[in-house]
This record gives sequence, C-alpha cells and structure tokens, in this order.
Amino acid sequence: MTALFTDDAYLSTCEAVVTGITPDGAIRCDQTCFYATSGGQPGDTGFFERANGDRIAIATTVTGDSKADILHVPAEDQPVPEIGEKLVLHIDWERRHRLMRMHTACHLLSVVCPHPITGASVSETDSRVDFDMAETIDKAEVTERLMQLVRDNHPVFTRWISEAELDANPDLVKSKNVRPPRGLGHMRLVCIGADSAIDSQPCGGTHVSETAEIGDIHIGKIEKKGRENRRFRIRFGPAPS
Ligand SMILES: [Zn+2]
Repeated sequence: MTALFTDDAYLSTCEAVVTGITPDGAIRCDQTCFYATSGGQPGDTGFFERANGDRIAIATTVTGDSKADILHVPAEDQPVPEIGEKLVLHIDWERRHRLMRMHTACHLLSVVCPHPITGASVSETDSRVDFDMAETIDKAEVTERLMQLVRDNHPVFTRWISEAELDANPDLVKSKNVRPPRGLGHMRLVCIGADSAIDSQPCGGTHVSETAEIGDIHIGKIEKKGRENRRFRIRFGPAPS
C-alpha cells in the first residue's frame, strides 16, 4: 500500500487496484490518496468509482495492523468490489482541505504557545490542543499572534531526517506523550518558514503548503484542565467582536 498523501497532500483523486477485503468489509488497495485516522487528524471520507460508473461510498479511513496498512471503510449497504478490480479513488476534498487548514493551524499554535503538547484533535469545524502549561494566557493575544503567522504566509514543506539526526535534536518533538514511530530509520518533518525558521516537528498528517491558505482562525476558548493543563480550541473565521 503506497500512501500517496505522504508526498502530495493535494492529491484528491488517484487510480488504484483492490488488493484485499477484510472480514468486516474494509477495502485495501495497492495505493491510496485517502488519509487514515492518525495523530489527531480524522481519516478521509469520499467514494470509489468503478469502471461502470457505480460508486462505493467510503465512510472513513483507518489503519489496520500497522500504520502502512490502510483500510477504507465503506458506508452501509455499499457494493463490494472484486480483488484485482481497478477503481478511481475520490476523497471529499472540501472536507479534507478544511482538515489540512485546521491541522496546519495546530502547528502554528504550538509555535505561539511553546509548551509540551499532551493531546490534540482536529475536526472540520474546530480543533483542540492540550498543553502542559501552568500560566494563564490571553486568547485575543494568541489569536493575534496566530493570524500574524497566517498573514506572513510562510511556506510549509516536508523534509525527511534520519533517526540519528532526530536523536541529536530531541527538542524537535513537541508531543509529551506521543513519540514518533521508530524503527523505520527515518521520519518526516513538517517545516514552516524559510529554512524551517518558524517550526519543524515530526508529523505524518496533511498540511496546506503556505500559512495564508489557513485563512481566518481564532481561539474560541482556553479551558483550564487541571493545574498544569490548558485546552485551546481553534475555530475558523475571524474572532467574534
Ligand atoms: Zn502535522
């Protein structure tokens, strides 16, 4: 299974061959542009187009035995494709693009708020990021600093590094509880700004290619979750006045 979204987050459609169907009816293909739920970003929805034009609606995409095992979960009562059948895969691009904008906004929040991340969840309408931090911070100020990074339109790009390079730069990992997967010999860094000047951190998700594409966002609220935990909610649109 080749995960095409790793190298091209903007690939909304691709051809694929069915390589397997699980007992639960999930579909495996030789390659896919469907992102599988991971790292706080939900899996893609969309449909598979058969040669005769019929559609197989895909309700979600998840990982199976390993991160590389991507399972497309059909909606109820969908036709079942044959092993070896050629399909054209179409993701719900409007939804995915919103997720890419939100996910990239989470990276910017970790720049504005440089504390260890204890949890994150991205959705179409908002995102939450939990930080291990004790101090109180003004949400209007966070919004303004986020929007400055958006307006500055920094490039967002990926770069592969070796595990040895990561070991030499342990500060690259901002997540407190989640360690990037080891044993592959290399991992993907998501970098923001020329020469990664703004940020770089290991991430397997999908992101927009420049920060201005995020558009208007604001911090909806900051909740205190325990003495040393703050939960930030990022929402689309300008801050309500
Ligand atoms: Zn990311």
